[in-house]
Amino acid sequence: MPLHMNTKQYQQALEDEQHIVVAELRTLGVENPENPGDWITTSSGVNEADENVVADRTEDWAARRATLALLETRYKNIIRALNKIEAGTYGTCEICNNAIETARLDANPAARTCKTHLEAEGELEN
Ligand SMILES: [Zn+2]
Repeated sequence: MPLHMNTKQYQQALEDEQHIVVAELRTLGVENPENPGDWITTSSGVNEADENVVADRTEDWAARRATLALLETRYKNIIRALNKIEAGTYGTCEICNNAIETARLDANPAARTCKTHLEAEGELEN
């Protein structure tokens, strides 16, 4: 981690975002008690046997599931970034080990890569 880096502000930003993401996750699913960090989509609670309602529910569920998957990735990245602050490895690109640009961290404190490796971030293992 670059010595001049002030991780306090990033830690605060990450913790704030963590609260927002968890609140959003809770509107869409429940955290798997056997595997924390893994979220299970819940249905929105409609129960009629009407065909249109069932079709709507299926679509609704698919949309909820897609949104939940995105939030789950954000959540995992936030937890990972907080762990890196703790470990003293925050702000380092996971691919080339160079420092991540300050502008990139300011825009996304949970970023895992430098700007050069931006597109490869989605291919990194969780
Ligand atoms: Zn890099």
